[in-house]
Amino acid sequence: MSDEMKYLFGPVPSRRLGFSLGVDIIPFKVCSLDCIYCQLGRTTEKTTQRKEYVPVAAVIEELKDWVQKGGKADYITLSGSGEPTLNSRFGDIIDEIKKITDIPVAVITNSTLLTDEAVRNACLKADLVVPSLDAADQEIFEKINRPASDINIEEITEALRLFRQQFKGKFWLEIFFIESVNTSDEHIAQLKKAVDIIKPDKIQLNTAVRPTAEKGINPMTYETLKAIADKLGDNAEVVASFSPSERGEHTQNRTDAVLSILKRRPCSLQDNCQSLAIHPNEALKYIGHFQQSKQISSEEKNGVIFYKVN
Ligand code: SF4
Repeated sequence: MSDEMKYLFGPVPSRRLGFSLGVDIIPFKVCSLDCIYCQLGRTTEKTTQRKEYVPVAAVIEELKDWVQKGGKADYITLSGSGEPTLNSRFGDIIDEIKKITDIPVAVITNSTLLTDEAVRNACLKADLVVPSLDAADQEIFEKINRPASDINIEEITEALRLFRQQFKGKFWLEIFFIESVNTSDEHIAQLKKAVDIIKPDKIQLNTAVRPTAEKGINPMTYETLKAIADKLGDNAEVVASFSPSERGEHTQNRTDAVLSILKRRPCSLQDNCQSLAIHPNEALKYIGHFQQSKQISSEEKNGVIFYKVN
């Protein structure tokens, strides 16, 4: 089914969402941030301008078609090849999803646009919102997330607090940690103050388990992340990796196809996606599985990450 889809990808197994149908409403790679740990590579269009980046009517048609053909998923997730809330009509997409299915809707966002009341109102329509907050200090924010020039971290924290007060759904705050960038005791204490103000249902700690936009970013150990989680609160957890091999035949076929391409020659993420006609986020799930089992490795050349079989 997904071979014919332009805006939908998956459903793919997700560490937090079970089987998640991705809805890609932003072109590769338009984002308000250029995170040093981004698994999709460098941001090519860094912007805070909201507009209808992809035609919403076409996205809805694809979704209707998928539902009519009996598509099943644990979540329908607005995410994509950049920041989904940059699409000025993402609230309309959620409204339409709600008309055609009762599958819950998730929005994964970098939080930067939540300072805009219209964005907060659109996010209120979702069942689950997973916003990111990697810094509680402007200097660290600029170092780790490399934002568009007009973004202020204190305003984002306040916007998250405001949104949390209004939102009745599930609210899981993700914090991505990189050793020596946002992990000092002083900064953890600042983050703790911020999360105490925001009051998320869960705080989910992540780290660079896959190749990143910049060189030299190594994953932190589970133990180090767990020690930080303990400082942040009882609702903080380390989000464990999800193995694609635990899921069904469709996923297994795709997983095998990714490996067979890499056996022929080293490939970038983009090469892999083009060969299989799949979305970068989907390819990353399979690649992550092989990296964990040490069947493949990666190297960076001129800003592009290549994968090869060991
Ligand atoms: S990690 Fe997310 S927010 Fe950061 S640059 Fe990549 S797509 Fe944008």
